[in-house]
Amino acid sequence: MSLKVLVVEDDREIRSLLLASLSVEGFEVQTAVTVGEAEALLRHALPDLVLLDLGLPDGDGIELVRTIRKRHALPILVVSARHQEAEKIRLLDAGADDYLTKPFGVAELLARMRVALRHRGTALAPAVTTHELDGLRIDLEARQVVRDGEPLHLTPTEFKLLARLVRSAGRVVTHRQLLADVWGPEFTEHTHYLRLYMGQLRAKIERAPAEPRHLLTDTGVGYRLAVD
Ligand code: CA
Repeated sequence: MSLKVLVVEDDREIRSLLLASLSVEGFEVQTAVTVGEAEALLRHALPDLVLLDLGLPDGDGIELVRTIRKRHALPILVVSARHQEAEKIRLLDAGADDYLTKPFGVAELLARMRVALRHRGTALAPAVTTHELDGLRIDLEARQVVRDGEPLHLTPTEFKLLARLVRSAGRVVTHRQLLADVWGPEFTEHTHYLRLYMGQLRAKIERAPAEPRHLLTDTGVGYRLAVD
């Protein structure tokens, strides 16, 4: 059975491009041009993933993110021409899974969709507890981090921070989300903690800490653990 994607986009060219490229990949694609149309379609049947543009004729896509998130865990990927950091943070904190800034390539879109589906699409799938890429191996249950065959020694806080990123591997996690989950909800403004601990983690994990391969910075937004 093919996966259903709802594309909410008012730009006709981008809509047809998405429809064509996703159909070729075997997705069943539904399209909506407005927030109202999208809401009507969502009431009728739930897709497996929503691809959402922000500037829509009858409202802002972020409202749709909030509406969907109140009721459903389905993955929401925002596709937007806007690229202000504050906007991205607002979206992710409202419950969007990830965002892509226009223009983007189809290969990148598909990769982000796969990550979002893996995290949300199957609610009953076991949680992610291991991660492996390019000589780095992380096993959360065994509390083991190995680089090029050598076990690394992380402090409890470093491990907690890394574990949070492993659970969302491939997706950006905002500063606020990291601070709340690792240090606690009263620490969401303490971004200097993050800078400090991320520096320590990179020094241990990365072969070249100044050019991170694993712990990627999404400038002004958050951090992302690389998956490819
Ligand atoms: Ca638009």
